[in-house]
Amino acid sequence: MTEGADDEGQRVPTVPTADDEYVVELWRSLGLPGLMDLHVHFMPHRVMEAVWAFFDDAARHYGRTWPVAYREAAEARLARLRGWGVRVFPSLLYPHKPGMAEGLNDWAGSFAADHPDVLRTATFFAEPAAARYVADALAAGAVVVKAHLQVGGYDPRDAQLDDVWGQLAEAGTLAVVHCGSGPVPGRFTGPGPFGEVLARHPGLRVVIAHLGAPEFEDFLDLAEARDEVYLDTAMAFTPFFNRIHPFPERAIPRLRSLQHKIVLGSDFPNTPYTYATQLRALDDLGLGKDWMRAVLWDNPARLVARLPVA
Ligand SMILES: [Zn+2]
Repeated sequence: MTEGADDEGQRVPTVPTADDEYVVELWRSLGLPGLMDLHVHFMPHRVMEAVWAFFDDAARHYGRTWPVAYREAAEARLARLRGWGVRVFPSLLYPHKPGMAEGLNDWAGSFAADHPDVLRTATFFAEPAAARYVADALAAGAVVVKAHLQVGGYDPRDAQLDDVWGQLAEAGTLAVVHCGSGPVPGRFTGPGPFGEVLARHPGLRVVIAHLGAPEFEDFLDLAEARDEVYLDTAMAFTPFFNRIHPFPERAIPRLRSLQHKIVLGSDFPNTPYTYATQLRALDDLGLGKDWMRAVLWDNPARLVARLPVA
């Protein structure tokens, strides 16, 4: 296989590189106090190992290799984010089967308690206990919730989740939702099923992960139509992602008009390229310094400031 030689697919060295310097120079040159990244994963060790094992097998799942760049201990990953000046980030987690979410929520609670720059998160599966354990997590201080419709494979319109979405809308919790059909579709991905959830719960504050890839334009429609729909940049516009899900050229002007709705997301640590690659890809769009400042700091900071107080 020649894909293993992909120049973006090399694991990163532990000593600082020009890429690390680029990250800090970028936000400094924009006059920002750092970065806020709303799409970052931290998980219990065994769950992270299972995710990495899945990416090891990416050629079978996704038809291309996916060497995870930052495959290292959690403390080393925290040190990287802090070294880059990422001031605030969530520990996004998600279950792939029933009976798993509550334990993940407990772990996310302890992780956030130990690390003040980590936003406390929760997740859920479509199962009878979901409304009860989501209520528990919100009461305990979770302010961001992750839903992954492709990995979870559940229908977001499932009646067992109606109360969950209602609780999130009422509490003002931020829901980061992977509902696009990339890198591979799920039964309930795409703008239709989650669009119906939004129509039923118009107050729900959501960040659509990966700019909704590959249904970018449908999710741009949703962000234009609804006040509380935002989009994260995770993986979008990078050379790796462009080969799988190129962002349509004709939609680039819409990124400018949605300047107040787009937030930095990176998918750290699971990208097959460096953190700087995401930032360079955003800068290369040529949308200007104000756009960069809005995406890298102002918009996520505004969302974080509106989170329920823990
Ligand atoms: Zn992710």
